[in-house]
Amino acid sequence: MTTFQEFGLKEELVQAVQALGFTTPSPIQQQAIPLLVQETTDIIALAQTGTGKTAAFGLPLLHKIDPNDQGVQALVLSPTRELCMQIQEEFVKYSKFSRGIHTLAVYGGTPIGTQIRELKRGNVQVVVATPGRLIDLLERNAVNLEEVKMIVLDEADEMLNMGFRDDIDFILKNTPVRESTWLFSATMNADVRRISKRYMKAPKEVAVAKENAGNENIDHQYFVTHAHQRFDALRRILDFAPDIYGIIFTRTKQDAQDVSEKLMREGYHVSALHGDMDQKMRTKVMERFKRRQFQAIVATDVAARGIDVNDITHVINYELPEDPEVYTHRSGRTGRAGKSGVCMSLVTSREIGRIRQVERMAKTRFHKSDIPDGAEVVRKRLFHFLDKIEEAQPEHGFGEIYKKSIHEKFEAMDKDELINRLLWLQLKDTIKDYENAPDLNAGYTDRRVERETSNRSGSVRLFINIGTKDGASVDSLIQFVAEMTDIEPGMVSRVTVRELSSFFNVPADAVEFIAESLGQRKFNNRKVRVEEADNKPGFSGGSGYGKPRDSYRKGGYEKKDYGSEPHKFTRARKPQNKY
Ligand code: ADP
Ligand code: MG
Repeated sequence: MTTFQEFGLKEELVQAVQALGFTTPSPIQQQAIPLLVQETTDIIALAQTGTGKTAAFGLPLLHKIDPNDQGVQALVLSPTRELCMQIQEEFVKYSKFSRGIHTLAVYGGTPIGTQIRELKRGNVQVVVATPGRLIDLLERNAVNLEEVKMIVLDEADEMLNMGFRDDIDFILKNTPVRESTWLFSATMNADVRRISKRYMKAPKEVAVAKENAGNENIDHQYFVTHAHQRFDALRRILDFAPDIYGIIFTRTKQDAQDVSEKLMREGYHVSALHGDMDQKMRTKVMERFKRRQFQAIVATDVAARGIDVNDITHVINYELPEDPEVYTHRSGRTGRAGKSGVCMSLVTSREIGRIRQVERMAKTRFHKSDIPDGAEVVRKRLFHFLDKIEEAQPEHGFGEIYKKSIHEKFEAMDKDELINRLLWLQLKDTIKDYENAPDLNAGYTDRRVERETSNRSGSVRLFINIGTKDGASVDSLIQFVAEMTDIEPGMVSRVTVRELSSFFNVPADAVEFIAESLGQRKFNNRKVRVEEADNKPGFSGGSGYGKPRDSYRKGGYEKKDYGSEPHKFTRARKPQNKY
């Protein structure tokens, strides 16, 4: 049996791993860690979510950090804020016994000033960042990548699917002494290949066999926003996808009409498609859509049945459908004929449970994404315009006769200045629009603050006024809690179901969040009430449940050891039939 001791890692890292309760390295860890510890090499590592990739790159990365050098030596890029936080928290645990190693996470949605101050302290060797926020910091000269030797692209496929290609390019180009690039991804696709071709030197490839689920070409993403910001979130997403050729689904004809009208007023090339339009009109819309005169159509499910278009890049669920099967129909509009596609769903915190239902019933896996911030949108449109200039082929003879006067006018202006002015003219409206654009993501900051302020450890026993009389069982109670709060089923433990009430344990730092999310709910028509159970012996028993590792997110492990396959978390929930 392989152990962490054999990998040649520094003693303090091995100790930390032991303290975490990791006994056996996961398959991807077995393949990646020794290689990365022993060599200075680029690597492409393919393994699904929940297979332990964070430690697979984190341990060798921390192993290679020189604690006596205070500069930023390593950079981890990750697609979302939440993942950044998780990676940083893991790194802190891995480096628990390592002196002088400091990791900082930087991501959007939180004040940049705080992050700048932390960077200014000048002792951060490892930065874990979303691409967008890192570039914001580069623009402000708050971070120096000149000494960065190692870069990890975590969930590279996701970052690319979310549209961060240019940002990643930019960052890679701005790390002059990079010695190795470690690319971790669940899937391999053309974009991932492109990055590896362009920026990696003879990468070694390691991969862990994966199970197949659904159509691999479709990336299912969801964004959590507030109900009143749904439309703004849609706009933001559209602005971040300048090349979109998509279908936006609404639940009702009225919504299809309203959303498309509002978008048109804002200057988007879209049209509605729904049953209140006569056949002639609908045919016309479809023809124009096929000729790409619309970037997107806003459709109801019924009207969209007739759509037979192959190159749809995005399906956007303005709202999730009632029926998970309908979700599958909708998402199946993209990722056809071997192409890849993205299906995005806008949900409120209350609707997250439905995402879980679709995941279960349609056997798909969703990725939580962040709604881009203003700077990300502006940058996206800049890079898009640069591409357009590069690709443009002016008609023959265009501008020929004005050549002389143009030359005269701009003779004294240098090329950079000219370009700068042209770009400004092109982008100034977007820049103005997005000045002080609000953060449209619901939930992130709040939860973070909550975690920081509560700062309690261990697990807490909760009382819930639901029991066998309400049809509850251990499984269904876990399922209910997980679904209503979007936490991992694995976080709910020591469930005792009685006739009229039940008890269960959850991690202390999540108590408030869980109690609050459950408070408004109903379980089989009974209004739910949740309270902290009295701390009497026999109830709380906090110490018995001492295992430190429980992932907050899907894909975490149920078992703490890797014996043999399967290594992936298997859900402890039964399918639920009502939707
Ligand atoms: P991935 O990045 O591949 O999705 P993570 O690195 O987030 O997976 O790991 C998922 C969970 O598994 C985390 O809770 C982590 O602490 C745990 N884990 C990782 N490696 C091991 C191991 N060798 N033994 C037990 N648990 C592990
Ligand atoms: Mg990961």
